[in-house]
Order: sequence, then structure tokens, then C-alpha cells
Amino acid sequence: MKFKNYMEDVVVEVYQEFTKRYPKYCSCNRCKTDTIALALTNLRGKYASSLEGEVLAKVARDDPQVRTDALVALMIAAEIVASNPKH
Ligand SMILES: [Zn+2]
Repeated sequence: MKFKNYMEDVVVEVYQEFTKRYPKYCSCNRCKTDTIALALTNLRGKYASSLEGEVLAKVARDDPQVRTDALVALMIAAEIVASNPKH
């Protein structure tokens, strides 16, 4: 059985918005990966079977509360990554 954490899709998408809104944070591949991974660690994973996950990811992407949670987690993560960049 395959499971999918559909918050991953939401965070990756919100990250695109985040880098546009906050260009002061480095968005090189390394920082991007570190920031998204850290944000996902701090967010509660939302798991579903992979098929159901696809549907739920679409719903979650349109939920302003979920997007806000993802954005806040990304801001916190970006601060941490920026204070100790590995690039
Ligand atoms: Zn970087």
C-alpha cells in the first residue's frame, strides 16, 4: 500500500509564492530543499492513500487555512536555514 503526505504538494506550491513574496531568502536548490523539508517536519503530515491523497491535495491547496499554516511553517524554516545556510 502506498501513502502520500499531501501536505508536501501544498508546501512545495506555497514555497513558489513565498520566494516571490520574500526574495531576501536564498532559494537555491539546497536552501529550497532544506526549507521545505524543515517546514514539513514542523507541519503535521496529512497522510492518505496515494489515490485519495491526490484528491485531498487539490482540496488542501484551495484551503486558505492550510495555505497560511504552510506559509508560516516556511517562514520559520527559511529563517533557520538562512541563519545556517549549507550552500
Ligand atoms: Zn542557498
